[in-house]
Amino acid sequence: MKEKINQIISKYDSDKNRLMDILLDIHEEKGYVDKNDIGILAKSLVISMAQVEETVSFYHFFSDKPRAKYNIYLNNSITACMRDRKGVKEAFEKACGTTFGNVTEDSTFGLYDTSCIGMNDQGPAAIINDIVFTNLTPYRVVKLITGLKEGKELRSLIYESYGDGNNADPDMHAMVHNNIRKGSILLNKDYERFDVIKNELTKHSPEDVIQIIEDSDLRGRGGAGFPTGMKWRFGRRVEGSHRVIICNADEGEPGTFKDRVMLTEFPDLVFEGMVIAAYATGADIGLVYLRYEYKYMLKYLNRILSEMREKNYLGNNINGVKDFDFDIRIQLGAGAYVCGEESALIESLEGKRGEPRDKPPFPVEKGYLDFPTIVNNVETLGSAVRIIKHGADWYNQYGTKDSKGTKLLSISGDCKFPGIYEVDWGTSMREVIEMCGAENVQAIQVGGPSGMLIGPRDFDNLSSSDLMKWYKPSGMMVAEKFFDRKLSYSDLPTGGSMIIFNNQRDLLRDVVMNFMEFFIEESCGSCSTCRNLPYIMKVKLEKILNGHGVRKDIDDLLSWGKTIKVSRCGLGQTAANPILSSILNFRHLYEQHVQAMADYDNTFDLIKSVESANQFVGRKTEFHSN
Ligand code: SF4
Repeated sequence: MKEKINQIISKYDSDKNRLMDILLDIHEEKGYVDKNDIGILAKSLVISMAQVEETVSFYHFFSDKPRAKYNIYLNNSITACMRDRKGVKEAFEKACGTTFGNVTEDSTFGLYDTSCIGMNDQGPAAIINDIVFTNLTPYRVVKLITGLKEGKELRSLIYESYGDGNNADPDMHAMVHNNIRKGSILLNKDYERFDVIKNELTKHSPEDVIQIIEDSDLRGRGGAGFPTGMKWRFGRRVEGSHRVIICNADEGEPGTFKDRVMLTEFPDLVFEGMVIAAYATGADIGLVYLRYEYKYMLKYLNRILSEMREKNYLGNNINGVKDFDFDIRIQLGAGAYVCGEESALIESLEGKRGEPRDKPPFPVEKGYLDFPTIVNNVETLGSAVRIIKHGADWYNQYGTKDSKGTKLLSISGDCKFPGIYEVDWGTSMREVIEMCGAENVQAIQVGGPSGMLIGPRDFDNLSSSDLMKWYKPSGMMVAEKFFDRKLSYSDLPTGGSMIIFNNQRDLLRDVVMNFMEFFIEESCGSCSTCRNLPYIMKVKLEKILNGHGVRKDIDDLLSWGKTIKVSRCGLGQTAANPILSSILNFRHLYEQHVQAMADYDNTFDLIKSVESANQFVGRKTEFHSN
């Protein structure tokens, strides 16, 4: 094995910044990375063993212990739970003969929980040895495991035919379905591959390209909404021996799967967007950070890049433009939600733990290997191609005054037609509900767990008396005004995840708890607020749900929800949102659990709760008496 590891290290020129690739290759070869391997890596890459260990221990899909022949990662997102994940989980345990978190004695099966794998529209889903299995049922699990025990090849056990569109491509061979329900200007078959590189780009100077993007008012589609043209302009201005364009394809927000579909059906559009961004900013290095869960696309995506190189749409003097040199490499992640944050993603690209950096400096000034770096979302890059092709005025016809263009929504949960919808900004929540065939809607999680849980008064025009049914039995005053809220940066901004819950769902016990567990699991542990408060808030919520809460507990939750905002990155800053937005819009659900007669309860032990949170994440917090 030592020889094999040395070969892998040589393949990456003993470059410590390629540690992620090296570890991924070793996992591919032997399934885990042990102390010996870590020693070899540290010596060859001239870094400390601790640095290698830090990276290995950080990512969900890395292991320092031998794993099984078949490693089954069952997604635990809320929509999977709503579609009998419990039954599927039990079927796996029974069929394999072990429980989740363990490997069978004969090392044949390993069972693991994992966060959303981007299949919310076709869950419960699992990744087994990098192959995705969707729409699992207990029956299918038994067939699958029985087949493996009989020695059948894993891929031959795919129980549905391959998925639609490019999912069936020989280099992908996935049973995943696109579920594109509504396309518009982005998901549009009139797209002519690489037409902008071939025919449009040289009509404009780099400055003109930036100006067109600025005039279009395109804003980052990952959720933050930063103006894309401004980001490109900053990137062009900063001095650097290299400049870098990164495509953030690490969509990990539970409920989002739009990038999966974009990369399946329009990868050329996304890569073309990176070339345009490179032309505009003078970048020569292109990186796509692809989440590990989408590894099944890797071969297919690399094939498109090879085709682009053959056609001189990547490489040197692209399409005959002197000194326009740019190429793209795909870097696979290894399972960490926080890597969706741009500076954490850059750390990961450099082979380190995906811990967000302090800002400033911002990546645009000092990013990947300290070069000026522009990080754009998959959807943003695709939109840029359409804008350069058709112009800013054309783009401005779509959307609203402050939110131009269209938005891809990933809709899942209690609706007849889960899938991808491309809608104009300004689309109302009522329209969303009608489009996807949802009925008796109690709540919608807009923007994933880090977003908002909105209720009927945000999307319905029910009468007061009807609304009282939702707000009973609290007897609270119900808002007099009802809104049909609209998707826009000024009203309801979103990265695109929409999860719908009907009136049969227990919002607090099932939904909010699931989201809080997600944040606890995904915190990188660097800030004490983000490391401790989600755990403590979950304990407090459990106390309320168990009937031991008092009104002050709700106030505590609101107050701690403010404290957590000081956390370093978006993950911590939004980790309390499931609780905060459910108190805001569904306070009656909390009220009906708390004991009305007692206003003060001194049984909650903060220090004890912090200690258990620390134990969970393996950190310490010092307490000072004053
Ligand atoms: Fe890490 Fe959370 Fe702090 Fe972000 S807020 S740096 S995820 S601990």
